[in-house]
Amino acid sequence: MRPMKLAITGLTACSGCQLTLLNCEDELPELLARCELVYFPLAESGNKLEVQFDAAIVEGAVSTPKDLELLFRLRNASKVLVAYGTCALFGGVAAMNNMTCSRHDLLQAVFGAAEKLPESFAPAPLANYVSVDAVVTGCPPEKQEIAELLAALAAGTLPPPRSYPVCTE
Ligand code: SF4
Repeated sequence: MRPMKLAITGLTACSGCQLTLLNCEDELPELLARCELVYFPLAESGNKLEVQFDAAIVEGAVSTPKDLELLFRLRNASKVLVAYGTCALFGGVAAMNNMTCSRHDLLQAVFGAAEKLPESFAPAPLANYVSVDAVVTGCPPEKQEIAELLAALAAGTLPPPRSYPVCTE
């Protein structure tokens, strides 16, 4: 069986989800033997987005035109797209200000009255823009779920849906 071609990357995020993946030192060697890491800019510079992938694992929220362009490219180039972590799934930390102030006010508070503020819009989950095939939640996700995700992808399947406990008062 040919190795699965994998892309792992992040949009607007802290990179904590991708770092947790790199910290799975016990599980990674065996799992990566069945994968070809074609695009993983956090771990290896110089990767190019010029091929088709079996799966793309995407961390972070969509909040800039660059995020959106990368997300569309990954979606078009990948059979399976995974929303990886709370930011990708719900908007997470980046989206916490969405309900308290306008994006313009927020940018002005950070960058001052600059003539040209950076292009940015209200951070949103991946599913607001593209179809998502599998999700792994957590901030960051647990190692066990990461291992299950990689094992399922390497076997040509998707991880089983999980039900997460909901905290109540
Ligand atoms: Fe960072 Fe948490 Fe967002 Fe992952 S889900 S990118 S760890 S803030």
